[in-house]
Amino acid sequence: MVLIDAHVVASQTQVEADVCIVGAGAAGLALARELGANRRCQVVILASGGLQPDPATQALYDVETVGHPLRMEQGYVSRNRYFGGSTNTWGGRCIPLNTIDFEARDWVADSGWPLDRSALEGFYRQAAKALKLPAYRYFSPNAWQAKRLGAQFQSLDREGLAPEVALMGTSPIKMGQVYHRSLAADPNLRVYLQANVTELEPNPDGTTVERLHVATLAGHRFQVKARVYVLACGGWENARLLLASSRHSPQGLGNPYDVVGRYYMEHPKIWLGRIYPRSNLLRWPAVLDYARIPGGYGQLGLRLSDTQQRESQVLNHYLQLAPGFPAGLPEARQTWQWVCSRAKRLRLHQIRPQDVRQVAPHLGQISEYFLCRTFNWPVSYPHIDILNHFEQAPNRDSRVTLGQNHDALGNRRLHVDLRITRQEKESLITLHRLVGERLARLGLGDLETPDLDPEELWPGLTDASHHMGTTRMGLNPRRSVVDPNGLVHGVSNLYITGSSVFPTGGHANPTLTLVALALRLAHHLQAAVLPAMDQPVVVLGKSTPSTAATPPIFPN
Ligand SMILES: Cc1cc2nc3c(=O)[nH]c(=O)nc-3n(C[C@H](O)[C@H](O)[C@H](O)COP(=O)(O)OP(=O)(O)OC[C@H]3O[C@@H](n4cnc5c(N)ncnc54)[C@H](O)[C@@H]3O)c2cc1C
Repeated sequence: MVLIDAHVVASQTQVEADVCIVGAGAAGLALARELGANRRCQVVILASGGLQPDPATQALYDVETVGHPLRMEQGYVSRNRYFGGSTNTWGGRCIPLNTIDFEARDWVADSGWPLDRSALEGFYRQAAKALKLPAYRYFSPNAWQAKRLGAQFQSLDREGLAPEVALMGTSPIKMGQVYHRSLAADPNLRVYLQANVTELEPNPDGTTVERLHVATLAGHRFQVKARVYVLACGGWENARLLLASSRHSPQGLGNPYDVVGRYYMEHPKIWLGRIYPRSNLLRWPAVLDYARIPGGYGQLGLRLSDTQQRESQVLNHYLQLAPGFPAGLPEARQTWQWVCSRAKRLRLHQIRPQDVRQVAPHLGQISEYFLCRTFNWPVSYPHIDILNHFEQAPNRDSRVTLGQNHDALGNRRLHVDLRITRQEKESLITLHRLVGERLARLGLGDLETPDLDPEELWPGLTDASHHMGTTRMGLNPRRSVVDPNGLVHGVSNLYITGSSVFPTGGHANPTLTLVALALRLAHHLQAAVLPAMDQPVVVLGKSTPSTAATPPIFPN
């Protein structure tokens, strides 16, 4: 790999490649790494920002918002515009989509993927490795705690409740840092940093992309010509670039039916409801509280089984179960861990009297907690708090468009209008009712939920920085933007990868699925697209005239 600062590329140069990937986040880097393993083509990544964050580049991501309030309005950073993308700050929590997420459901308008879960299975396993998650089999709840908990999980199954595990690695992988080393070994990869793509220029009838226009914040401008282009700029930005590429048609590129930017979905979430456990199943610390397993952590929640969802005609919402400790205990537990780490490093003098005062009243419960965790005994926490994760139904009116204000490169900012509907809130109310009835019937616990009005704004209901659906996948160009391989309908050489292509998003955090899709796209390009191209645009092993003029500044 050669890292090139785009500022050293002479203005008006045309850089050439076989495959040009726009964006160096989870999707772009996974795709480049997989293409590199094959070594048959020259790949260029155009990456906004450098190896570290900088405020001027980050400001290119500023948006205007209307609709449901987003947490970025309170200063929350919802995406990161530099090498590694949003994996620089993500939480690392991963779950595959469920089988029902891929199905067309008659109670969910515009639902259904043009492929089923089995088409992704192998890529999910590869993606889990790429994201450095624990072994894939741990996604099955029965794989851990099998002897002790297996039978009890089966009783949940019989009642239409599906326990489901989220996995995290030992720490959330920052793909820019972790992949830097493996990408460095790829001689056919060039990464241009500080390279902001501002426009995709197609031929006049919009059927082929001719070149990309790139700008740096310092005012350099150049172009990139490739055989195949892949947008991997994240769930909002993929749509923004298509909409901004309006030189030949005012509605943008790949948008003859006004679908680009529509169907924007999130995973709204809210702390709501409390379970008072009656059974040990709901007391095991290793089930609920980020259980340590080889290679990372697992964390359990509940949703309705696919069969039950079909019967009750609800969306695929999910209840994350978190131990509810008495007030003050979680903070005291944290202080206790800090005190222990000081003691271990013989830095006892750093421990302050107020730390001891905070911990002392809770010492009994803290030691009980750690003992139970170590030996997997039930913990006596009084209740379980519920973090509710929503699935959103695809909705044409929930959308991103181009706003009136411009960024520092002269491009129109995004205007984000997230809608949360009555159907989505009603599904949560139904889920709580059914889970409550069934937990009580099984003698596991009592669920308490406040009265909720689906017409009202629920305070605390917020987004999760998961941007999905704005360039959705499908077979019908009137209702979708890309085909099942990610190829933009009607444009012969432009692919999109990332959560913007999800037709529905289930409740699952999106990154595992979007990395699986990026790996699937690499497979498709290698198997079906690149070999069919007669002459590579670049002769392998030789530098093109355009890149010879732009010496690498960070050779590896
Ligand atoms: C705080 C936070 C917590 C999260 N937690 C989780 C979690 O626990 N689990 C989970 O699954 N997901 C989580 N996510 C979401 C996750 O980070 C994203 O799903 C994932 O990073 C998306 O990958 P991507 O490659 O599509 O986009 P990104 O990772 O955002 O990468 C996009 C890349 O494109 C570049 N780019 C953008 N525009 C241009 C342009 N015009 N020209 C050139 N380059 C451009 C950017 O610089 C960036 O490098 C979280 C996100 C945030 C912000």
